[in-house]
Amino acid sequence: MARPTLPTCPCGLAEPYENCCGRYHSGSASAPTPEALMRSRYTAFTRKDAAYLLRTWHPDTRPPSIDFDPALTWAGLEILETTDGSAFHQSGTVTFRARYKDGGRAGALHERSQFLRVAGAWVYVDGDFIE
Ligand SMILES: [Zn+2]
Repeated sequence: MARPTLPTCPCGLAEPYENCCGRYHSGSASAPTPEALMRSRYTAFTRKDAAYLLRTWHPDTRPPSIDFDPALTWAGLEILETTDGSAFHQSGTVTFRARYKDGGRAGALHERSQFLRVAGAWVYVDGDFIE
């Protein structure tokens, strides 16, 4: 008998979307760490959820709107390193690699993202490309 495959969230965790990033997208919970926020923002990109991306963007660096490239599909997220970002921190970083296909060509975004806590909630500030 074949084992049922575990439901996985687009962010890569072995949880159904509703129990993972979906809780943050719906607003019923807020991401407790920069890593959770990073995962939920990646998942928001896969679902083209511009409203969530904008409301988790620092007001100083937030773009006026987000244009999703229709030729680009996200293919997987790997969290490589995190610094700070605990309940005792006001800032944190997440280094990740996000794989994508752009018009059929495979690529990867390798970035160290900066997060700050604003009014209790983690928000994305900006990122540095590593490669
Ligand atoms: Zn998730």
